[in-house]
Amino acid sequence: MKLILLGAPGAGKGTVAKRLTAIDGSVQISTGDILRGAVQAGTELGKEAEGYMNRGDLVPDSLIMGIMEQRLQMDDCKTGFLLDGFPRTIPQAEALKTLMNKIGISLDMVVNIDVPRDVIFDRLCTRRTCENTKCQAIYNVKSMPSKVEGICDKCGSNIVQRADETEVAIGHRLDTYNEKTAPLAGFYEKEGLLKTVTGTSSDVVVAAIEKALSL
Ligand code: AMP
Repeated sequence: MKLILLGAPGAGKGTVAKRLTAIDGSVQISTGDILRGAVQAGTELGKEAEGYMNRGDLVPDSLIMGIMEQRLQMDDCKTGFLLDGFPRTIPQAEALKTLMNKIGISLDMVVNIDVPRDVIFDRLCTRRTCENTKCQAIYNVKSMPSKVEGICDKCGSNIVQRADETEVAIGHRLDTYNEKTAPLAGFYEKEGLLKTVTGTSSDVVVAAIEKALSL
């Protein structure tokens, strides 16, 4: 399947994407994960992106499009892909459309995961992430703690609170989402690709996607 997962930070895009990969081997492509990997590895891309990310601002479109132009042409995308956290602005959506026309691929659907702001705020404040960039497993101190406090169940690395998951940065990320990313729902509605799913449980969202794609 070739999908875009839209939704505010904390709406559950990553969890839904991971579950969908198990259905048909489509790959999850998270621009946030790619950027955090670059920051940790200390690459030029990471150095350029880090300040924006820590403040909860969007990284410039040109950097993101450079990443996606390469990523979408990798062999593992041939089976399908789940775009998680990209596109995030109208210029990115337009550039993605041009890129997909150029490389001859088309989207099946754009899923907008709609979750109330208070639920999202609470989720993000209590979310913890494995610091190993190859793992980046997600936990929640309230609803999904690791077996041993502070240690990832999957790889044994430390679990940390992301620098952009303080209350101030979260508030700013949600405002940025409303201003820059929420308009993408209208963009994809016009393209005839939008499916909005309202639900705080990934079971509900995954089931709605399977139904819409007749899987
Ligand atoms: P995420 O894990 O998707 O919430 O992304 C974490 C941070 O990475 C965001 O707050 C942005 O600073 C940056 N980022 C991720 N994806 C994008 C994108 N498509 N466009 C611009 N910035 C992005």
